[in-house]
Amino acid sequence: MDAFSLTALRCRELLASREVSATELVRLYLDQIAALDPQVGAYLLVTQEEALRRAAAVDAKRPAERKPWEGVPIALKDVLCTEGVETTCGSKILKGYVPPYDATAVAKLREAGLIFLGKLNMDEFAMGSSTENSGYQLTRNPWDLERVPGGSSGGSAACVAAAEAPWALGTDTGGSIRQPASLCGVVGLKPTYGAVSRYGLVAFASSLDQIGPLTRDVKDAAALLDLIAGRDPMDSTSLGLPQPIAIPRATDLVGKRFGIIGEFMGDACEAGVREVFNDAVAHIHALGGVCEEVSLPSVAKGIAAYYIIAPAEASSNLARFDGVRYGHRTAGTENLFEMYLRSRSEGFGPEVKRRIMIGTYVLSAGYYEAYYGQAQRTRTLIIEDFQRAFARFDYLISPTSPTVAFTIGERTEDPLAMYLSDLCTIPVNLAGLPAISLPAGLSRGLPVGLQLIGPHFSEQGLLEAAHALEQRLAFRALPPIVEVIR
Ligand code: GLN
Repeated sequence: MDAFSLTALRCRELLASREVSATELVRLYLDQIAALDPQVGAYLLVTQEEALRRAAAVDAKRPAERKPWEGVPIALKDVLCTEGVETTCGSKILKGYVPPYDATAVAKLREAGLIFLGKLNMDEFAMGSSTENSGYQLTRNPWDLERVPGGSSGGSAACVAAAEAPWALGTDTGGSIRQPASLCGVVGLKPTYGAVSRYGLVAFASSLDQIGPLTRDVKDAAALLDLIAGRDPMDSTSLGLPQPIAIPRATDLVGKRFGIIGEFMGDACEAGVREVFNDAVAHIHALGGVCEEVSLPSVAKGIAAYYIIAPAEASSNLARFDGVRYGHRTAGTENLFEMYLRSRSEGFGPEVKRRIMIGTYVLSAGYYEAYYGQAQRTRTLIIEDFQRAFARFDYLISPTSPTVAFTIGERTEDPLAMYLSDLCTIPVNLAGLPAISLPAGLSRGLPVGLQLIGPHFSEQGLLEAAHALEQRLAFRALPPIVEVIR
């Protein structure tokens, strides 16, 4: 059996027809991890024994007793709380933290009978676009081990690209599902804000964070979204989705109108990316869809507004890491204040400190209006731009990332260059919209993702359109790392 050819849906079918046992399936992925992860570095923790124990329990049941997804493996970004399993959020400050509870999304998967393979690497507290801000290790892009997998869900994207799990959960605050999905040639979906409960997701920027799937195809993204979506009394900002998500079946785009966001097609967008994007537009036309350029003038200010709003929320959310309640506490201090100071100084990495300082500054009384107030007004303008565009178009499209995967170290010295990676994804979070990144082709041998954005709660339609386009694009290339296995 070849893990690179398996989707989660296929795993489910093979289990149902008894062509494989849950144990064989778990072993297949453990073997992939053993063979590839020393090079890729996607996992922070592999919960091998627990996974095999769960698989044996599934195999002991009669088929009629099993739930539909029971026995299908999955891996989780380490920002999600897992009962009894260390959750570090990629930060030294949470080293050794073992949550006493599951995040709601995790609990739903556990309830559905999925088997957890382990916890995936990420930028510390999900701050970053390359996973290089992890407090623990580098994750490498399976398409080129000298390049980053994107971030902050770089572990999740690299894991799925290297078939070290059939699918994975990530989180997206400004692009952290879609951008790594794009750079690693997999599908990534950020749901509408509120579709999925944030309970048990370690908070970065609470008005922007959403949990979502990283998968090998659009059908799997639909299935995983359906498993995790829903209103949750533990998250008062959660609403769920208007209807359960069905597996998409659309084969054409007849009558659908797509707006190409002009502001994302400027100089920042690499020529090779533009080429793949233009090909995708031709495919949309061939499927009966109509594409036209549209201007959303305020989205160009998305990054500026985001880098005030997100750090402001982060500085407040991260105040709880004080050496008292969670994870790392410094040794041998004289008094409480010094204990706070040293625990935080030792536990947080440079990017997190930068964000806490920016956030604290923009929220300080004298500057509140000048920065935070302005950023919130800009956010409203962006929301209005999207609303106007959706009056004319069913979906908006753009490249997911202006460039293909960059080399390790290339942007670490220059935070602004790193921040630009999320040019096309950040405005979507500011407006709370759903969006999906789909592998559309290769440029210089590296994957290029296409982003489709829909109105609030349009997930089903968005998935249908993405599925139709996916069939037409027929992206079948595999990362070179496949040779290690074959
Ligand atoms: N790269 C962006 C940041 O660093 C977005 C991260 C995310 O979506 N979690 O904040």
